[in-house]
Amino acid sequence: MALNEFALIRQYFTGLGEGRGVALGVGDDCALLDVPDDRQLAVTVDTLVAGVHFPDGAAPGDIARRALRVNLSDLAAMGAEPRWFTLALTLPAAEEAWLEAFAAALAEDAQQFQCALVGGDTTAGPLALSIQMMGLAPRGQALTRAGARAGDDVYVTGSLGEGAAALQLFVPECPFPEAVTRQLHARFYTPMPRLREGVLLRQLASAAIDISDGLLADLGHIGESSGLGAEIDLSQLPLAPWLSAVTSAEQLQHWAINGGDDYELCFTAPTESRAQLQALIASGELAATRIGCMTPEPGVRCLDAKRRPVTVDSAGYQHF
Ligand code: ADP
Ligand code: MG
Repeated sequence: MALNEFALIRQYFTGLGEGRGVALGVGDDCALLDVPDDRQLAVTVDTLVAGVHFPDGAAPGDIARRALRVNLSDLAAMGAEPRWFTLALTLPAAEEAWLEAFAAALAEDAQQFQCALVGGDTTAGPLALSIQMMGLAPRGQALTRAGARAGDDVYVTGSLGEGAAALQLFVPECPFPEAVTRQLHARFYTPMPRLREGVLLRQLASAAIDISDGLLADLGHIGESSGLGAEIDLSQLPLAPWLSAVTSAEQLQHWAINGGDDYELCFTAPTESRAQLQALIASGELAATRIGCMTPEPGVRCLDAKRRPVTVDSAGYQHF
């Protein structure tokens, strides 16, 4: 690499390391992090590969933000709060303009979400990056996929389908008008991790997952982990009006249940929490919609507004 590896790390990545609990950050063989006795460390890692998870030629700032946020979304799903992350970066060349834009966006998001860069690895090769994110949850209080009970309500935060719709940005003839394209670009590269909601739900939800593979697939994971199944009412799916305006109801429903990349939370909660959740929703503190319930029978079934079964094509995203 033109820029020496160590100079590169010093120049671009040592400034992002200020944070709570960092006893020793970037620059030694390991970082040393202080985990309070009453907390558990939540750890997750996600890899983004150029040409697979984002198009070749994507803006460096966009890549940085997406990589950080998809990891933050996993912490959100556990009700954990971000603290630290590591970055394994593989670069075709040490291009300073690229690195500067990448590091600036990473620094901005790290600041916004209160997490510090404490280490990593830098290598030469085809563009790819892995971020390992670490957060804290009060001991024994993290949300998992396994806590749902039969009869629990099923909710999703925000709206669904935009993540899948955004993939249309990368086909040669994107069918959307400019304003919609802009919103989808933002939805793809800067998904908003539901961290605040995750923390709020620690006391209210019985299980949670973030929607990265599609609602049916991810709710299916809660079902499998909890030894249950689920039914959802398709007429209750939260869909963005701005997207409904430019595509068919059928297409949007398909994106909403099968498309991944929404990074909303799907969670279950006992019916006793319903009043409290409805109050949070009504006050605007929690953007969520009740869409169904957990059942003793395995599998996820779709119903229409009259509770008639609807057959849907259900293929979540799978890499292999
Ligand atoms: P080692 O050879 O001991 O693994 P390296 O030479 O790879 O260490 O890295 C030197 C220091 O720089 C380490 O503290 C490492 O965590 C950090 N580092 C390397 N690459 C990055 C990066 N992309 N972002 C943040 N820190 C990095
Ligand atoms: Mg070493």
